[in-house]
Amino acid sequence: MKVRQLCEMLDRLGYVLPVLGNVTGQSVGGVISTGTHGKNVRCGTLSSLVQSMTLILASGKVQNVALRDESGNISSDPLSCAVGVSLGLLGVISTVTLRVVPKHRLAYSISHLPFEIFINSYEEILRKSEHVAFIYYPFVDAVRVEASRTLSEEQEKSTKNKAMPRQTRLKLFFANIFNYVLFESWYGKYFSPVIWLITRYITLTDLSREASINKPAIDKSYKVVACNVDLDIEHHEMEYGYDYTDTVEVIQAYRKVFRTLPSHYQYSSFLDIRFSAGDAAWLAASSGRQTVWLDLIRPNVHKNTELFMAAFKTTIIKYLGRPHLGKENILDKSELERCFPDFAEFVKIRDELDPQKLFANKYFDSFFTSSSSGKSMVCRFPNKRSEASVWEIFDTIMKVRNNQEDETE
Ligand SMILES: Cc1cc2nc3c(=O)[nH]c(=O)nc-3n(C[C@H](O)[C@H](O)[C@H](O)COP(=O)(O)OP(=O)(O)OC[C@H]3O[C@@H](n4cnc5c(N)ncnc54)[C@H](O)[C@@H]3O)c2cc1C
Repeated sequence: MKVRQLCEMLDRLGYVLPVLGNVTGQSVGGVISTGTHGKNVRCGTLSSLVQSMTLILASGKVQNVALRDESGNISSDPLSCAVGVSLGLLGVISTVTLRVVPKHRLAYSISHLPFEIFINSYEEILRKSEHVAFIYYPFVDAVRVEASRTLSEEQEKSTKNKAMPRQTRLKLFFANIFNYVLFESWYGKYFSPVIWLITRYITLTDLSREASINKPAIDKSYKVVACNVDLDIEHHEMEYGYDYTDTVEVIQAYRKVFRTLPSHYQYSSFLDIRFSAGDAAWLAASSGRQTVWLDLIRPNVHKNTELFMAAFKTTIIKYLGRPHLGKENILDKSELERCFPDFAEFVKIRDELDPQKLFANKYFDSFFTSSSSGKSMVCRFPNKRSEASVWEIFDTIMKVRNNQEDETE
């Protein structure tokens, strides 16, 4: 089931998920298994909403796993911490019980801040908002703030819905072409001041007129928090989660790296900064700590993205960044073991549950090969790493199970 379908069903019942990623086109199994997060500062990843799940193991056995008890306390069973974010390596999730909250509306606004003001005021913005994303544009050294706030009782009674501003597929397509022709082509270097002005205008004004602080967009929370249209523009994305207490230092460190890069890298990329609560899942980038997520994004039309991503590696290692395992990653096995304290435990549980590696996928296996060591390993995005769809895996399990039954007879 897609997250969008779940949101629509919950809406009819009067509920909503307290956190969503930027889009709702993913499967529920996918967002749980990769630890997809959103911009709700007071909530963990979507995986943290799981109360219990049913897992079909490689042996064909069906196992119920309780991740939390009825009062919401985290289970101490190691399997519960392993299955939270497991990239499908431990089994197929067939049913889940998720935590939901009563549905509500949110007011969404866009504003812009120079970097220095952002770095001194982000905590106050976080305190006042339910969901926030800060998008840092290195070439203009400014931050776009997308904040959603709950409505007061008075506003709830007196305000009607106001449509969200939307990126359309056409707009994004032209933005990509424009970006490529101007910044990566031979002509680009002759027009840099003009480019700078045009891009500054486009980046900082595009949608803001339609949802300013004084005239915010107002709608159901799931419509405000995530884009409910599939914008499948291919892009590269590499996101790491850091300890919240390192927020200022690590953002400043990324900014420094941007400044050492040739200007066309700065023109053609941006940094999405979001915050979340900690998680119990061992392989969540936010495992056990309140987290600031730094997501480097670059459209697929540009060249040398691998080099661009690699420029951030020293900073990632220095601040013990943990990769979002639904995106690109440049850390190898020993580096992953260092940043995820329970990585080895996860691998042990995987070996026990799936000794024949029925659920192996190339993405995870590349962490264990020497070729990923010390090199930047780029996985294409959106997700082309899954070897087989879960339904193919499900069919394989059923075959194994039937064979076992035949043998016993
Ligand atoms: C446009 C776009 C925007 C995004 N925005 C965000 C964002 O805001 N925040 C964020 O954190 N991430 C974001 N992502 C990443 C995305 O949420 C994850 O990569 C997510 O897993 C994709 O879901 P999917 O259904 O495509 O999963 P797939 O790629 O199909 O699967 C992902 C993994 O989950 C496993 N899996 C899937 N279903 C099951 C199941 N039933 N049982 C066991 N394992 C299963 C698969 O084996 C695979 O390893 C975004 C991705 C895109 C393309």
